[in-house]
Amino acid sequence: MRVGILGGGQLGWMTILEGRKLGFSFNVLESKKDSPAGRIADRWFHPSEVEEFIKESDLITYEFEHIEDDVLEKVYPKTLPSVEILKIKRSRVREKEFLRKRGYPLAKFEVSTAGELEGKVRTFGFPCVVKSERLGYDGRGQYRLSSADDVKAILKNHPPEEVFVIEEFVDFAFEASRIGVRSTEGEVRIYPTTVNYHHEGILLYNFTDETPYDEEMGRIVESLMEDLGLFGLLAVEFFITKEGKVLINEFAPRPHNTGHYTLDGTYTSQFENLLRAIAGFPLGSTELKVPSGMVNILGLSLEDIDLKGILSVEGAKLYWYGKEKRHRRKMGHVNVVAKDKETLKRKIEEVLKGIYRRPAELTRET
Ligand code: ATP
Ligand code: MG
Repeated sequence: MRVGILGGGQLGWMTILEGRKLGFSFNVLESKKDSPAGRIADRWFHPSEVEEFIKESDLITYEFEHIEDDVLEKVYPKTLPSVEILKIKRSRVREKEFLRKRGYPLAKFEVSTAGELEGKVRTFGFPCVVKSERLGYDGRGQYRLSSADDVKAILKNHPPEEVFVIEEFVDFAFEASRIGVRSTEGEVRIYPTTVNYHHEGILLYNFTDETPYDEEMGRIVESLMEDLGLFGLLAVEFFITKEGKVLINEFAPRPHNTGHYTLDGTYTSQFENLLRAIAGFPLGSTELKVPSGMVNILGLSLEDIDLKGILSVEGAKLYWYGKEKRHRRKMGHVNVVAKDKETLKRKIEEVLKGIYRRPAELTRET
């Protein structure tokens, strides 16, 4: 089976590493060969070679959401999850309207252009979060507003016609996610819940945990996969409010950062199950083998971190993506497993210390 991947990032890299074990080969479409997935692909294709990429791939999937329309128009007959789902996801407006129309629980939201924002946020209320409709990831294009004065900063960076979503600020008790997988043969499995901790809009670490909301989140993931007609992976990020309400923050129809722990913590990783699902193979077990978690390495090089200290934590494993260092960029991650939850939390702390020796590293511009 020759699988084509749209995008050359770390999600593609891990999909290739996992898929080779199944005997699959991989083509990657990405503007730079020198990218995590481009580097290890069987064949790398520049976007100008999209026709050849399609011809050489039996199936196509994506690891990145912001793919040009002209590429999507060409690849759609071979692509899973479908290009239609990707188009919903690429627009925060379409994503939220899709969810609202079908009655999924969401924080209150409204749509506005940058030009109309000032008036609209006044009636919407504060605090609120304003997010650009397109090209947002890792907290990009996102603003927390406590008064209408804060709109000025947005107008400096965006043209007045650009579309935004105004969202209620959710004073959540915690954030969690669940990842579902659905195969073209109709088989469905849901991965365990993880509790997720973000730093300034970017996932910093997460770990598996049991919560009173697991069933409810699982039901939502399963029903959303059906509503979307999705074959492949669906990650759903949730806010659990202080009143115990489960709200969907967003979904992603691809491997997800909060599922990296599945490489070491569950019987089958999210990456392997994505491939099994779209190839029509039986799905692998999503059961947890051992309490596990993950810490992201943001904006640091291998020289910046205490590599020996991290690797000396029993049950810690480093995944290094080999990208050029940039401020707050996801450079790698460390998976951690432990015999029980308390030990796991202690080990995550140790790994965090080994990575962010100087806590200022997290916020400093480089
Ligand atoms: P990614 O793709 O990396 O998940 P993103 O740029 O798509 O990020 P969101 O998931 O919308 O962004 O937001 C990132 C984080 O910012 C959330 O996980 C949460 O911690 C915080 N956040 C976003 N929206 C809200 C909100 N309405 N209320 C409170 N916190 C929020
Ligand atoms: Mg998110």
